[in-house]
Amino acid sequence: MFATLKEILSDTRKKKYAVPAFDVNNLETFKAVVEAAEGEKSPVIVMVLDQDMKSGNLRYIVPMMKEVAANSRVPVCIHLDHGADIQTVARYISLGFNSVMLDASTQPLADNIRLTSRVVEFAHAAGISVEAELGHVGVGLSDSAEDIKSFFTAPSEVEEFVAKTGVDALAVAIGTAHGPYKGQPRLDIDRLKDIVKITETPLVLHGGSLTPDDQVKEAIVAGISKLNIATELRMALYKGLKAAVSELPEHASLHEIYEKPMEMMKQLVREKIHLCGSQNRA
Ligand SMILES: [Zn+2]
Repeated sequence: MFATLKEILSDTRKKKYAVPAFDVNNLETFKAVVEAAEGEKSPVIVMVLDQDMKSGNLRYIVPMMKEVAANSRVPVCIHLDHGADIQTVARYISLGFNSVMLDASTQPLADNIRLTSRVVEFAHAAGISVEAELGHVGVGLSDSAEDIKSFFTAPSEVEEFVAKTGVDALAVAIGTAHGPYKGQPRLDIDRLKDIVKITETPLVLHGGSLTPDDQVKEAIVAGISKLNIATELRMALYKGLKAAVSELPEHASLHEIYEKPMEMMKQLVREKIHLCGSQNRA
């Protein structure tokens, strides 16, 4: 069934679990996420990055996502990840996404509040949930540990941000980064606990891929409600394709070619569901 971000995250804080969210861009990635979630009876968030859709996938993937989400055996939220501006967010809402992120996290606080508030106004009027980001989650391979620290969410800004914007979920920067890391990440769980005390708004951890499980678990127990995964799903696809290429003849059927990648992606999704503790919550 179709669920908004607000609905899908509503129980998470109280029951100390998170809902995993995966970036997909085609039939196979989407199917792997939904089938694994159905198998584990887990709610799930399926996300799309606008830059992944430049190849023209959007016209194919949107009808498929809406149809499958509406008829799925578990709650499925269809979410725009890292919407860069108001126009992009509005476009995805008009396509039928029921949740959007506006990422104005590199802007000064006042601009982030102003832009996010505008999105919340028209999204909420249409029954759509909104995620925003305060502080900034950087890129593991290009930002140094000091850079990542300098972008951390300031707890002192949280109350004003959620009160003035009315967002349904808030991405926080506490030590994760997008993609692989140069060294070992170290999450600032004390900072997260401070933020949790300030707001009841569900909190989101971006850069979930390749972050050690024990630290992710600690963050979820402390109050993270949504865990974003992109890189590790792509890695599972890549490894599965590599295995298929090395094992199969060139004339292998489409089903045979995708069998291994599908299994490896589903396995990864199942692992993340159990890491989040969202199994049997649907
Ligand atoms: Zn992200």
